[in-house]
Amino acid sequence: MHGEDKDASPHADLAALRQGISNLNLRILALLSQRARLVTDLAEVKRRDRLDLFSPSREQEMLDAIVAANPGPFSDEVVIHLFKQIFNASLALMESGVVQGATVARRGDLPDLSIPLGDVWIGKAPVLIAGPCSVEDPDQMEAVAGHLAARGVSILRAGTFKMRTSPYAFQGLGEEGLRLLHDTARRHGMAAVTEVTDTRHLDACALHVDMLQVGARNMSNSELLRAVGSAGLPVLLKRGLAATLDEFVLAAEYVFSAGCERIVLCERGIRTFERDTRFTLDISAVPLLKAKTRLPVMVDVSHAAGRRDILSPLARAALAAGADGVMVEVHPRPHVARSDGPQQLDLEQFDRFLDTLAPWIRREPSPSNASP
Ligand code: PEP
Ligand code: MN
Repeated sequence: MHGEDKDASPHADLAALRQGISNLNLRILALLSQRARLVTDLAEVKRRDRLDLFSPSREQEMLDAIVAANPGPFSDEVVIHLFKQIFNASLALMESGVVQGATVARRGDLPDLSIPLGDVWIGKAPVLIAGPCSVEDPDQMEAVAGHLAARGVSILRAGTFKMRTSPYAFQGLGEEGLRLLHDTARRHGMAAVTEVTDTRHLDACALHVDMLQVGARNMSNSELLRAVGSAGLPVLLKRGLAATLDEFVLAAEYVFSAGCERIVLCERGIRTFERDTRFTLDISAVPLLKAKTRLPVMVDVSHAAGRRDILSPLARAALAAGADGVMVEVHPRPHVARSDGPQQLDLEQFDRFLDTLAPWIRREPSPSNASP
């Protein structure tokens, strides 16, 4: 029988049935909201009593009771699935309440964070962080720092404990490198930043630099994130080689929840199928991280590209996309650098690179770091 052959009553039934379902939707919603308010109260009690928000045994108990009372026609499996969704949404609600006052996430009531470092603020006008891949020797450090300081760069980077792909490659000068970095930066009125690769090196690093870097390979090392977050220094957090933006933001949340508000996110390229570059610079990360968080966002063009010839367009793209600054590797003699030679700019190349960033980056040394 075709629909048009039917009398009006099935249509009336359809309308009535739909009305019944719509009414039930609203009653379920009202019950869910009532349940959510109880969950919020429960979160308060759990926070006060320092109890875990998630209790597997309590969930099991509730599911058992629900299955025992299941009148059908939904199967037990379907009923468990539906209630598990409600439990998960409730847990998320409790967790969001826990980070009420303190989070890296962008929220209307929380201000953007900017970080004072040396004589600049990261998160106000765009800044450059520059320096060699690794500290190698006093002459190298002096040549590069003197050159950069005279051009207005006030944050000096250099690795001292290196995370190399091969165990046979140069591993960095360790504590001797930290001392060299510290002394060179001080001589030129610059702030120093170096990567902490292991909690065992944290105290030594914190003693010698003004900002601690967590490298891409350690972005998800939660122990290190917590330790670095409680060291009392600003933290430059690199994005993991294959980390999503949400994973990156949660890594920053680890640092934040350990007591550090002075965090700078650094996009440094992600692993893709492309082989012309070492990694693929993800420019969309810049506006997206700024939309997701209230932290400054920088872009390391050197490790993204892995080559020196395209650093200027990448840096300009980053700044045009709203980055708060750029990190670039500079070495007085890149061809004989002990690490990352192919991507480091020599001093003359750095000057040309800097010229191309003129619309964004101040080029004059500030009085405090002008060469004597
Ligand atoms: C670095 O900046 O020295 C470095 C090793 O970078 P990444 O951790 O991004 O590879
Ligand atoms: Mn490097």
